[in-house]
Amino acid sequence: MTKILISSCLLGEPVRYNGTGATTIDPIILQWQQEDRLIPVCPEILAGLSTPRLSAEIQITNNDQEVLDIMGNNITDLFVLGAQKTLELVKQYNIKMAIMKARSPSCGNLQIYDGSFSNKLIAGTGVTTSLLLEHGCKVFNEEQLQQAKQFI
Ligand code: SF4
Repeated sequence: MTKILISSCLLGEPVRYNGTGATTIDPIILQWQQEDRLIPVCPEILAGLSTPRLSAEIQITNNDQEVLDIMGNNITDLFVLGAQKTLELVKQYNIKMAIMKARSPSCGNLQIYDGSFSNKLIAGTGVTTSLLLEHGCKVFNEEQLQQAKQFI
């Protein structure tokens, strides 16, 4: 059975910047777990970031984008590293679909925060999700599980 990548915080792992998980209890996820299809990943942990850590947002400037934490440190390279390591997993397991946490600067697939750290959302994708999409991996978030089930 084909494997499915999933943001590990959605399975309850306390890997988010604030040291929490984002447990998503849903029969579709439970079924995939029982079928041993899920490959959990946290790109930011793969990159070596610690938990808890400072919150971070993508800053979009003209045609470029950077990731800054809330203290203004540029952590773009770490986010790119996390994305690359996640892509390695996707290739290793021949994964065609991922369920990634909505609105994260790494994992978001439809919206991200606008970089002002004021809770404003804009259309956009996180650093890891962007790389997965570039390589043909379909990405849904935890609010799109029905669509994901039909896709796989
Ligand atoms: Fe969850 Fe992705 Fe953030 Fe890791 S990087 S805590 S998997 S949303």
